[in-house]
Amino acid sequence: MPELPEVETTRRGLLPHVEGQQVSGVLLRRADLRWPIPPEVASLLPGQRIDSIRRRAKYLLLDTTAGSALLHLGMSGSLRVLPANTPVRTHDHVDISLGNQRVLRFNDPRRFGCLLWQPPGELHPLLARLGPEPLSDDFDGDGLFARSRGRSAPVKTFLMDQVVVVGVGNIYAAEALFIAGISPMRAAGSISRRRYQALADAVKAILAHAIERGGTTLRDFISPDGAPGYFEQELLVYGRDGLPCKRCGRALTQANIGQRTSVWCTHCQR
Ligand SMILES: [Zn+2]
Repeated sequence: MPELPEVETTRRGLLPHVEGQQVSGVLLRRADLRWPIPPEVASLLPGQRIDSIRRRAKYLLLDTTAGSALLHLGMSGSLRVLPANTPVRTHDHVDISLGNQRVLRFNDPRRFGCLLWQPPGELHPLLARLGPEPLSDDFDGDGLFARSRGRSAPVKTFLMDQVVVVGVGNIYAAEALFIAGISPMRAAGSISRRRYQALADAVKAILAHAIERGGTTLRDFISPDGAPGYFEQELLVYGRDGLPCKRCGRALTQANIGQRTSVWCTHCQR
């Protein structure tokens, strides 16, 4: 599943090819993805200039004066900029043709992604209740500490709550908790301010590192043959159940927390 770093890398890869381009046409090969594609996408987008590509959480917004196309990659989606005459492949659902003889093509085998519309000056309901961006100054240990008081939910569940902070998925939550030395099972309300500061720092460092590494894969977004592979992670705990902890050497433990698989070290994480 594309996580926040993949989405941010997609944005950066698209930017030089898409920003400032005029949309010459929109081709929808199906009427819906996860949800129906609203008529505004095909009726309002053609003729508009794409002024910017923004990311909010794991959503991408193509901003025009007529409104913004709102995209989510879901479980399996990818966006690529291709020469306009590139043959269509299975699961290529949407083409947004650009003035530079290229096409922004959305492929999504499982169709958990979406393409929606946000009128100018409005906030789409999907974006309305989102918490702070993890790499912004609005996200820090003090905020986590304040928001967690009185919360008995496991800290891992708390950290993955999009109202608390956006874009910290299962992989990055597990990794950040390991780096901060916090057990994912611990009640969110029982963790000190100092430890939340370490956790916020870990989240920022991991995401920034992943985005930095993503820079090396940017060519995938313009190559017709390039597979949109997700980043290979140098994972410390995620997916390493039973393997030795990279800090203490003891076997890592696995359990479900909030219906999500979780792996951690019971010695290093308290
Ligand atoms: Zn350990």
